[in-house]
Amino acid sequence: HVKRTGKSNYQFYSASIHNRIIGNFELESLLRKAMDRNEFSLYYQPQIDTNSNKIYGAEALLRWHSRELGLISPNEFIPVAEETGLIVPIGEWVMKEACRQNKEWHDRHFPKFPVSINLSIRQLYQTDLVERLNKIIQESGLDPKYLELEITESMTMDTETTSLILCQLKKSGVKISMDDFGTGYSSLNNLKKFPIDYLKIDQSFIKDIAVNDDDRDIVATIIMLAHNLKIKTIAEGVETSEHVQFLKSQDCNVLQGYHFSKPLPAKDFEKWLINWNKNN
Ligand code: C2E
Ligand code: MG
Ligand code: MG
Ligand code: MG
Repeated sequence: HVKRTGKSNYQFYSASIHNRIIGNFELESLLRKAMDRNEFSLYYQPQIDTNSNKIYGAEALLRWHSRELGLISPNEFIPVAEETGLIVPIGEWVMKEACRQNKEWHDRHFPKFPVSINLSIRQLYQTDLVERLNKIIQESGLDPKYLELEITESMTMDTETTSLILCQLKKSGVKISMDDFGTGYSSLNNLKKFPIDYLKIDQSFIKDIAVNDDDRDIVATIIMLAHNLKIKTIAEGVETSEHVQFLKSQDCNVLQGYHFSKPLPAKDFEKWLINWNKNN
């Protein structure tokens, strides 16, 4: 995952090189220590409601500031965390922290909005996931309607088992989003069987909609399909006003991307939000 645009991505680049030198074994041992050392944090990226132009919600994205390696992208360490099972305690921390932060915003009288977190397939199939989630929600004091879970389809996914789990999760009062839709193993059968509230159109389809007719057609069709199934749509990777214009013309419900803001630490996100509310 070598990214070449922008200054801040240089760190990802060097971390990526570093990983190859140190290998997965060392990465794993540093990852094990990361939790005790408080090296994880959540960044928040705003999502904008196309109808009102107000904030719709925020996605919480995990960041690892490693003492040894610097800032490492989740694309680099999530796969290792999944392989080793470390994703379970890390994911539990993510759930707790997202609930805690959103409750804190409520207590400080920010306008209320849902925060979404990403769940890996391994977490989803944890036998006690629903109990753990319920416990975390209860202890945080957050109204569960302000929590959303993002899942991605995967090859190892069994449709019947997954829809059972998702139904149990929905009983906890949270919302479910299908992330990265259109990539990988997307199946219309899943779309029909899963109790999904939101479908997130993968950024790879959004990227070229200004110049590529096929991508425009695909995005328009995904939005129509979702809406016919009473599922709301969120576009990822919205970077330009052309993107915004096209997605609004297709009645996409929610927009997320650098055009509005990159993911920000909680304090910076608060400043962004206050400023956005002043101007919109
Ligand atoms: P994702 O859930 O699809 O998250 C969207 C990714 O797109 C984020 O990358 C975000 O920073 C990036 N992004 C947002 N807007 C734009 C844009 O306009 N243009 C471009 N080019 N990119 C944009 P990030 O934060 O590096 O996360 C990468 C992936 O790592 C996430 O993809 C998600 O699959 C995974 N991830 C992140 N946090 C967690 C977590 O807490 N748990 C788990 N299991 N996975 C996570
Ligand atoms: Mg996501
Ligand atoms: Mg995504
Ligand atoms: Mg992704």
